[in-house]
This record gives sequence, C-alpha cells and structure tokens, in this order.
Amino acid sequence: MSWQQRITTALEQRHAADGWRQRHVTDENHTRLLTVEGKRYRHFSSNDYLGLSQHPAVIAGWQRGAQQAGAGAGASGHVTGFNRLHADLEAQLADWLGYRRALLFISGFAANQAVIHLLAEKTDRILADKLAHASLLDAASHSPAQLRRFSHNAAESLAARLAIPCEGETLVVTEGIFSMDGDSAPLQAIAEQTRCAQGWLLVDDAHGIGVVGEQGRGSCWQQGVKPELLIVTFGKGFGVSGAALLCDEATADYFLQFSRHLIYSTAMPPAQACALQAALAQVQQGDALRQRLSANIQRFRAGAASLPWQLMGSESAIQPLIVGENAQAMALSRRLAEAGCWVSAIRPPTVPPGTARLRITLTAAHQPEDIDVLLEALHDAAGQ
Ligand SMILES: *Cc1c(COP(=O)(O)O)cnc(C)c1O
Repeated sequence: MSWQQRITTALEQRHAADGWRQRHVTDENHTRLLTVEGKRYRHFSSNDYLGLSQHPAVIAGWQRGAQQAGAGAGASGHVTGFNRLHADLEAQLADWLGYRRALLFISGFAANQAVIHLLAEKTDRILADKLAHASLLDAASHSPAQLRRFSHNAAESLAARLAIPCEGETLVVTEGIFSMDGDSAPLQAIAEQTRCAQGWLLVDDAHGIGVVGEQGRGSCWQQGVKPELLIVTFGKGFGVSGAALLCDEATADYFLQFSRHLIYSTAMPPAQACALQAALAQVQQGDALRQRLSANIQRFRAGAASLPWQLMGSESAIQPLIVGENAQAMALSRRLAEAGCWVSAIRPPTVPPGTARLRITLTAAHQPEDIDVLLEALHDAAGQ
C-alpha cells in the first residue's frame, strides 16, 4: 500500500467507526466557561481541576519570569538553558514531595518516554496496568524490554506476573488516578508486590498531584507510598504545563548524564518555571479549592446516581458516564452542547471498545448551579 492509500484508508476507517476526532477552536477557556464558535458553554472537559490556569498569582508568576529571564530558555539545560528559576522549582518540588531530587521535563508525555526509554533494557520487563496512559504504554512497547500488562488495579494479577522469573530488572508501572476512569490505584498493595519482587515502581500521578493528599501532594502521599520513580505533571491540577520526575540522587544524575530527552531538547521556558513556583504555592495553600472541588464531586454524584448510564465508582474529579457505542456517546455529547454544557465524548482506542463515554470533569471553579444545569440536561436526555 502506498503512503497515499494508507492515509486515505485510515481516514475512511476512522470516519466509518464514528471515531473522527475534531479539534475545536476555543476563544475563551476560563476553566468554568468555554466559548466555541461564538457560543458560550459551561465547561466539563477541563483538567484544570483547581482553576489555577486562571489564577492571578500564577499568571503574574509567568509575567515576572518572562521579565526576568525572557520568553524562552535559549538552549538545552545541559548547555545554558538551566536557569535559577528551574533550579529553585526543582528544589521546591523535591522538598515538598520528600524526594532527594526532582528533574523537570517539558511535558508528562516526554517525561514518561524519557524515563522508560533510559531505564528499560533488553533483558528487563515492564509490568504495566492495562489502562495505563498512552505515553507509558507507547514508551514501554517501543523499549527493548518485554511489556506485560496486568489487570486494571489488580495486585493479584500483578503478583501472578511477578511470579514468572525474569533475567533482568522489573519495572512496575501504574497511575495514581486513572485518566479515563477516574479511579485510584491500590498503591500500597502494588508497592508491596513490587518490593517483594525487588522491582522498581513508577507511578504517574498526572491527575492526583495538587488535587489529593495533604497539601495536594498527590496519590502516593495520600496512600503512604514512596515509589522509586514518581512522575508529576503540571498541565492538570497545576494549571500550567510541564512535568517532573522525583527520584533519588543517583537516579537523577543517571538521567542528567544519559537521558537524550533532557540533553537534546530545549529546557522549558524559565518563565514557565516561575509560573509553576507560583502554582505550587497555590497548591500548597489550596485546601479551600480542594474542598470546593470535593463538594462539587459529591453534588454531581448524588444527582447522577439515577441516570441510566453507568457512573463509575470514581471519587475523583473525573466522573465518566459509560454510554457504550461511539455514535451514542457522540449524540449525547451533542445534546448536552445544545443545553449549554460542553462534555467531550471519549472513544476507542483511548478507551476499550464498547465503553465510549462522556468524560465529565469537575473543577473547583464550578458553581453549584453549573452542576445542576449539567444534571438537568443529562436527566432530560435520559428521558428521551
Ligand atoms: C495527561 C497525562 C500525561 C501527559 O502529560 P502532558 O504533560 O499533558 O504531556 C501523562 N500521563 C497521564 C496519566 C496523563 O493523564
């Protein structure tokens, strides 16, 4: 098949499966409200769980950083791109999360690629939760190590895989809060199994950091677990962008010496590091925001319990409603849009076939009234 045929066929199949992915140009995206093509919606598809992307202190942090250090880093961190603003942020993150070191990456996707790419060698194995994020599973399947997936959140399934001998090292990979289901991993049980097998545990806490645990320290802190490798990302609860790896001294040095993702890539803008310091301060003193988010989650769940679609057992800001087929999920999403609520439908391959869903996300920025309007629109749609 030629490139041209391959592209045409793939696009046709996407369309036929009701799987076409559409980007929407948003003119205003203020966590709670979204404007698309001149129409304003209540916004239930943002990962900006605490509303920090709009926080004056975070915006001022970015402006201050830009005034101090310019618009961009100008080079890889290994050349001259590593600014005082980056160094201070790394130190603050390590201190806050109880690790010796933190290393910044430009995104969570890049961090996961970098970590797995550098660590996993030919005789090793990676045991990943079946529902782990694409950035983790892609990195693992492209690595020379063997990839095996264990049943979602099932420590027994992990134990069965760990019982099979492996010549090299074992890396166990999971998430704090799962991005499409909103449920939390049983981290204590997973860490215990991993420790018994002398493996290392990598936890990607993209959706937990800032949002759960004391001072927003995330899922691991909340569950009393300290993985060898902790990935936190800043595009969600922190309201900005970027990521960090938390680890011990020698591992951080190993990454600085050998990680091509760090060596051959421009450092994040120092202004962004400055914004992230401001976001970190808001996260640390963010109990009121977390309480508001939690009240919104309770309000939504109480009102959604009688809907005909399966509401997952999630206690997090991610509240998926499982609809089933792609076309139905798309139709429900469109109906909600007509009622003024923006909720994205998530379809395979992002989620397993037959589990197309509305991924409803709640934030601290929502007012009780927003949630009531969404619930009313859902109940109306269910009554049709
Ligand atoms: C969003 C997400 C990422 C990607 O992080 P970015 O900073 O957006 O690249 C990685 N892992 C998980 C679990 C995520 O949900």
